[in-house]
Amino acid sequence: MTRYQKSHELYQRACRSLAGGVASEFRKYGYPHPLFYERGAGSRVYDVDGNEYLDFTLSQGPLILGHSHPEVLARVHESSQRGQLYAGQHLEELELAETLQRLIPCAELMRFSLSGSEADHAALRLARAVTGKYKFLKFEGHYHGWFDGVSFSISAASEDAMGPREQPNIVPWTQGLPPQAANDLIVLPWNDLELAEKTLREHAGELAAVISSPAMCNAGCIAPRSGFLQGLRQLCDELGIVLIFDEVITGFRLGMAGGQGYFDVTPDLAVFGKAMASGYPISVLAGKRNYMEWIADGRVIHAGTMNSGNPSIAAALATIEVLERDAVHPRLFELGRELMEGLRDAARRAGQAMLVQGFGPAFHTGFTPLESVNDFRDTLSYDKAKYQKFMAGMHDRGIRLIGRGIWYLSAAHTSADVQQAIDTAYDILKTL
Ligand code: PMP
Repeated sequence: MTRYQKSHELYQRACRSLAGGVASEFRKYGYPHPLFYERGAGSRVYDVDGNEYLDFTLSQGPLILGHSHPEVLARVHESSQRGQLYAGQHLEELELAETLQRLIPCAELMRFSLSGSEADHAALRLARAVTGKYKFLKFEGHYHGWFDGVSFSISAASEDAMGPREQPNIVPWTQGLPPQAANDLIVLPWNDLELAEKTLREHAGELAAVISSPAMCNAGCIAPRSGFLQGLRQLCDELGIVLIFDEVITGFRLGMAGGQGYFDVTPDLAVFGKAMASGYPISVLAGKRNYMEWIADGRVIHAGTMNSGNPSIAAALATIEVLERDAVHPRLFELGRELMEGLRDAARRAGQAMLVQGFGPAFHTGFTPLESVNDFRDTLSYDKAKYQKFMAGMHDRGIRLIGRGIWYLSAAHTSADVQQAIDTAYDILKTL
């Protein structure tokens, strides 16, 4: 009987009905195999074998208030008692839109969807319509959902596969993509303004949009270099290109105004999801009025049967209310700083070259000789096999991490949780 016996049996059973035993590609990489969970509370989550985990995955980011926050659950329950979905408007949806308008600099008008992928898709359609151009620029290592248009240059086997820095290969992420999708795309390394400027000027006549997360949290938790986002903003203004920020991770994590507030650069369009609603399905396409009016008057279609369901709207309202009322972000940054410092110190004491980089509410750890990681190509220096061992050791000791190296913190995490993670990390790092 192993520590994960029941999960193992359920996983074998799941492989007979669910493709790969899971409901999303990213869940396939659970350690030692996809696990089955029974409940979550605060900073902890429990699997079917009765193992307790201090959780730094937080469902890949959404659970900014921790698992099962009572105010979120109560609001969802109360709202669902009255109805689920009206195929029509309701007051709470309007209240959420007005709240987002107040909080997010670019949110002059908005539409709700269910997932980040959908909202990114809508943003690109809108940019193409408004500019009358069809190509867009995306950066290596950035993830904007799993739809065809953006399923390129998300990961790569090696730097060779990525081609030259100045003119990278467009690397498909999956089979099944229409060949013409790659023709709509220009790909560049992130965080290189000079290269971005050269490319944008060369291709201004065909580029509808630049899409970027304001910080590259998915790979390396990389901050934009000083002036990079501002430079993109100026170039897009000058060249008639729509600047889209994908705030699916940064939104409500780096602050109430997302990455655009944190870095003080306002995009034309932005997409939010994840932390906004504590794990309930909702995303937002928010943008400047002169763009969003194309959706308002139906020149650009955005739709969805399930959009703005009561539980999701209620969860978003409750999450945002608690985040504002309890001034959660300053505490998350402070706790994150403690954890990052503690992990750096633990690595130093254990004689390991572990780079700890990021913001606090989200950050990244990985084994690399580099002193900082500034774009996706740098992340290829990470010793992934070693990180898998680190993650496995932590997991067996009751600390749940994401295999890619990103850590998320929630309002439910305490200083004692942070200390537990640091002490355990030191024990494991010594053994690697
Ligand atoms: N953009 C970013 C930056 C993301 O991290 C993700 C999800 N990991 C998405 C878009 C896609 O969102 P969803 O999974 O809700 O479709």
